[in-house]
Parts: sequence; C-alpha cells; structure tokens
Amino acid sequence: MKTVDVQKIIRGTLIERYLYCRLKDCDCRKKKKKKHGPHYYLVCSKNRKTIHTYIPKDKVETVKLHIENYNKLWQYIDNKSEENIIKVLKRKVKKDVKK
Ligand SMILES: [Zn+2]
Repeated sequence: MKTVDVQKIIRGTLIERYLYCRLKDCDCRKKKKKKHGPHYYLVCSKNRKTIHTYIPKDKVETVKLHIENYNKLWQYIDNKSEENIIKVLKRKVKKDVKK
C-alpha cells in the first residue's frame, strides 16, 4: 500500500451546492444558472442521521485529501481482511450465496 497518513482521514462525501441568496433583486432569483456557488459540504451519516458540514473554500482540497486517505485505508483493510481469511484457512474462500 502506498503510504497513507492514518492521522489524516475524514469519512464522508464532498458535495457542491448552488444556492439562492437573500437579496430580492439578485440574478440568482431570475436564472437558475446565476445561483451562487459552488458551496461545499461534507455529508456523512452518524447514528442513522445525515450530517452536512459546511466546508470553507480554502479547506476543500485538504478535506478531499483526507477523504481519499480514508477510502484508501478502508480499501487496504478490506483487502487485508480477505487475504487473512485465506491465510488462516489455508485455502481459497468460497462465498456463500444466500438464497
Ligand atoms: Zn443572489
């Protein structure tokens, strides 16, 4: 595995939002394409609740890297687990298919 800094991980998905502002005469009210944005939010679920966290623009790249690290680490753990099942059982694993 390429080195992943396990201290720098964030679970979630980054989404972009385009929003209306409060000004009545602003172009964003007239044309959809004139909505303000992108604004970034980290979406993540905890205890069956979805949490949206606003991410300031200057933190977006950092958050993206942390999310990538999380996903890489998770992928690594998943692969390692499968390898270890094979190692422990000393044979290939047949997947049980539930009917
Ligand atoms: Zn506006």
